[in-house]
Amino acid sequence: MSDCLFCKIIQGEIPADRVYEDDDVLAFKDIHPKAPTHVLVIPKAHYSTFSDMDDAAVMGRFMCAVQHVADGVLQLQSGFRIVINVRAGGGQEVFHLHAHILGGKKLPF
Ligand code: 5GP
Ligand code: ZN
Repeated sequence: MSDCLFCKIIQGEIPADRVYEDDDVLAFKDIHPKAPTHVLVIPKAHYSTFSDMDDAAVMGRFMCAVQHVADGVLQLQSGFRIVINVRAGGGQEVFHLHAHILGGKKLPF
């Protein structure tokens, strides 16, 4: 999607602090971190929001990548939170599906 911010990050048109990448997903640091560690994981295929995801294989690789980034790359042994905001009412501001990984401190509810 040519007018999508996160598609532009995937294409390298907008810089990002990348922490992990494979054929299907990209993970990069959130520009306005809300915890000491705050990373976004996105599928390289454009899905506007969680509810548009209709491919179980892509979803499976996406969630496996979230696990790999949190546990393997970021090494958040003491724990972390995964957040997916869905549509405007759920707090979604960028309409390319993404999971937030938050950690690095004891997170309040
Ligand atoms: P949402 O509210 O859609 O779930 O989360 C969007 C996230 O994207 C926000 O936490 C915001 O800080 C982050 N964000 C917005 N624009 C950029 C950007 O250009 N680069 C990076 N790295 N993060 C961004
Ligand atoms: Zn996109």
